[in-house]
Amino acid sequence: MRSRTLAAAALAGMAAAALYGQAQAKAPAAAPSKAGGVQTQATLAEMTPAKALFALTDGNARFVAGQREPRDYKAQVHATASGQYPFAAIVSCMDSRAPVEIVFDRGIGDVFSIRNAGNVIDQDVLGSLEYAAQVVGVKLILVMGHTHCGAVKGAIDGVQLGNLTQLLEKIRPAVGGKVPPAGSKDDAFVAKVGRDNVFLASQEIYKKSPIIKALVDSRKVAIANAMYDIDTGKVSIEKLPESNKN
Ligand SMILES: [Zn+2]
Repeated sequence: MRSRTLAAAALAGMAAAALYGQAQAKAPAAAPSKAGGVQTQATLAEMTPAKALFALTDGNARFVAGQREPRDYKAQVHATASGQYPFAAIVSCMDSRAPVEIVFDRGIGDVFSIRNAGNVIDQDVLGSLEYAAQVVGVKLILVMGHTHCGAVKGAIDGVQLGNLTQLLEKIRPAVGGKVPPAGSKDDAFVAKVGRDNVFLASQEIYKKSPIIKALVDSRKVAIANAMYDIDTGKVSIEKLPESNKN
């Protein structure tokens, strides 16, 4: 019961905190930053939610600085052929300007990447995350939206197009009831809806997956939110809830 209370408090804290500030996570450099190395059973065993978050923020800092680690993809293909031990699962938008492994400076076998328009959550995404967390053992689930998101703009404007219509409906709760006159041309509103959409998605994961909820409550996995800045390449990640800093 105590852990449940802590998790609830953590989620509440996520809501109350200044969202999407620069990551505050401090953790010793983890094995995955070893140049050209791949994730192994041993590196995953040593990983924690805080270290996983640090590995991502550290990688994004390298990306922004133009100092990406040297990486031999061919060697990594060979080294990961017998199994995968990724440390994080990232739910993000399909936008071609936000390629996950590149913006976090990660290689083959490092992270699960689940992408769709508007980083929406459905049963298939939840199932994928449950596989990542329960079966493979990732330590971090990161939901990442981005600035200037076309899907968010479409939801704001009430776009209707084939199967896209039902996808955009999933973003509508983040739009809320009141849309400014400029609609999707209001950059500040688009940014706000994008952030709210990420926050609601992370809450949905926790609420709709008893498997992930149990892992979060027992501090084995953390859920964090992020926004990718299309203009700068920078990812802003909310710091981990206190109860998940282990
Ligand atoms: Zn997008």
